[in-house]
Amino acid sequence: MGKLVCAVCGRPFPQGQGIALELAGKNLQFHNKDCAYRFLRQLVTEVDSDCISGQVKRLIDLYEERLNEAAKSKQKKI
Ligand SMILES: [Zn+2]
Repeated sequence: MGKLVCAVCGRPFPQGQGIALELAGKNLQFHNKDCAYRFLRQLVTEVDSDCISGQVKRLIDLYEERLNEAAKSKQKKI
């Protein structure tokens, strides 16, 4: 198996480890969560907020719904 190179810090790591992400038609590789987070955080802070505001709201709603459902099923058990 070949080695991959982290897109953020340049550290080589073996295939099957790290985090792979396909973004805008590019295959990105990160050697760990910290490097992936650094990349993604920079991406979302630099991207035009009008482009992602709908998606941000959708994700907030999605997780809110999940939390509500989790809270509900907890109540049923008690
Ligand atoms: Zn890295």
